[in-house]
Amino acid sequence: MSKAPTELSEQRIKNALHDIFGFSEFRPNQKEIVTAILSGRDAFVVMPTGGGKSLCYQLPAHLMDGTCLVVSPLISLMKDQVDAAVENGLRAAFLNSSQDAGERRAVLNQLRRGALDLLYISPERFALEGFSDLLASCHISFVAIDEAHCISEWGHDFRPDYLALGSLTKTFPDTPITAFTATATMKVQEDIVQRLNLRTPLRVRASFNRPNLYYAVQQKNDANRQALRFITDHRNQAGIIYRTTRKSVEATAEFLIKNGIRALPYHAGLDDDVRAKNQEAFNRDEVAVVVATIAFGMGIDKSNVRFVIHADLPKNIEGYYQETGRSGRDGDPACCLLFFGYGDIPKIRHFINQIEDEPERRRAERSLQDVVNYASAHACRRRQLLGYFGEQFGHAPCGNCDVCAGKVERTDATRDAQIALSAIVRTGQRFGFGHVIDVITGAETDRVRALGHDTLKTYGVGADHSRPYWRRVLDNLLAQGLAGLDDGEYPTLQITEQALPVLKGQAQFFMSEAQAEIRPRRRKTTAATPVSDGGPLFEKLRDLRTTLAKKHSVPAYVIFTDTTLRELAIRRPTIPAQLLQIHGIGARKREQYGDQVLAIIRRHIESDS
Ligand code: ADP
Ligand code: ZN
Repeated sequence: MSKAPTELSEQRIKNALHDIFGFSEFRPNQKEIVTAILSGRDAFVVMPTGGGKSLCYQLPAHLMDGTCLVVSPLISLMKDQVDAAVENGLRAAFLNSSQDAGERRAVLNQLRRGALDLLYISPERFALEGFSDLLASCHISFVAIDEAHCISEWGHDFRPDYLALGSLTKTFPDTPITAFTATATMKVQEDIVQRLNLRTPLRVRASFNRPNLYYAVQQKNDANRQALRFITDHRNQAGIIYRTTRKSVEATAEFLIKNGIRALPYHAGLDDDVRAKNQEAFNRDEVAVVVATIAFGMGIDKSNVRFVIHADLPKNIEGYYQETGRSGRDGDPACCLLFFGYGDIPKIRHFINQIEDEPERRRAERSLQDVVNYASAHACRRRQLLGYFGEQFGHAPCGNCDVCAGKVERTDATRDAQIALSAIVRTGQRFGFGHVIDVITGAETDRVRALGHDTLKTYGVGADHSRPYWRRVLDNLLAQGLAGLDDGEYPTLQITEQALPVLKGQAQFFMSEAQAEIRPRRRKTTAATPVSDGGPLFEKLRDLRTTLAKKHSVPAYVIFTDTTLRELAIRRPTIPAQLLQIHGIGARKREQYGDQVLAIIRRHIESDS
């Protein structure tokens, strides 16, 4: 290394965490990553949304000489990221095409003078001819690549411009190169490390579990009314409602507005500037609710999203998990609610059937099945979700999903499970859903007759229930591991060992009916301070935050997070020194806003007594 990696004492790192960010403790993995960077090592980090990735590079950026180069894919996010860093007193700037030549020159001058801790650029800029030579002539402390999965064609968000980043290790042979992402399977992870040519990097794969998120499924009957009821129960909380079509987005937004909810629509059919404006209004807490298609996503850095409702069935678990992950980034309780109606399934099947590419169609089928299983099984939601990402959650109930919380009513469906299982067995475990259901319900099809399946013992014994009902039974058998689908060209149903006790009448089988009432469990530490209603002082402080955010044209959470407001409202500091004890307030924020905060608290205390 040309520049001896700074030998910083633990105490100095801890002090910076407190003075700059106002945090008293590191989150899991942060310290290890910061230390690796400070010692000059490459790093590769997979951490879920809200895990606290930005601190991992912003802290060393502050402590090291030179400028940390941050590669970030979204120009629209850069300004907020830079604003947030500047609010903490870091010297940060960005360089992108939204600036004119003069502004860009000014930033480059700062860079050359060593007057920046952080410089945010897009991958496109890095790929520009001559740009990496220019960088090589500056003092770059290390490079942090955000959303690093964009470099992998295996990932779901490939961006060709990221490929140029593979040359970083050549341009900067002695500089740590670090990569961060919230989404990477093992395969994508290896691909990223290879394409970036990382040199025996520190590898961190944080758990994907988000303990503060409450997962629940509600039977869907009237999505708009159900959403309205939820929002009314969670007044003043920020949330996102996802819908699949533009039309339903518009309809839901209109319905909510008519019922007095401050809501805005967001979908790809709106003009760019309307979209940008609506997103901005949400980020700045001017509206509580955005109703959106999944086009609304990457640009959401807001940390105090308190709920995400999927009013229609998502297409796959991966997307669902990422979308729900936009809630509760600040670590406070948040609710992820899915409205699940069997009526959504035929619509999605219709689209799937139009996919011409055979393997792709089968993948889509399988993805839909996974989502249906998630929603309909009587099994811990968290365990199911994490299992999907290859993470074992353990056997104890998570306690923070509707199933574990006992909110989901069970019905004993042992007899029907036996019927379905025996229909699978008696037809030789060689058929898919359609035919097995034909046999159970006694359908008179040519195929049934030709195969002689109308003579089976199970033929027609389930005629008293509808076909969709039997589909549900089969889906539940799959989700709970009593049946499996093989991977052949036409997926066929098979039973597993776990089915045997049920078939023999030695074990019961339950299916779930999701109940209407949805309430996230509160964390013990915040039990005394409901999230929805922080009391009158909280409201006053929030108003101050809104005013300050407007005045400085930054998102509200950049000024103070909800956690910070709540701590202020509870601990009620009255002198400047006490402010530094509050979560999220460092030296710079105390200086900037301390007086106004203290004035509000003092006035409140006086009027209270
Ligand atoms: P990510 O980029 O991984 O999605 P962020 O970097 O945006 O996550 O961090 C999410 C939230 O967690 C932010 O509000 C951030 O201030 C907060 N945070 C990060 N590190 C800590 C910490 N050590 N203690 C408390 N809060 C933290
Ligand atoms: Zn659970």
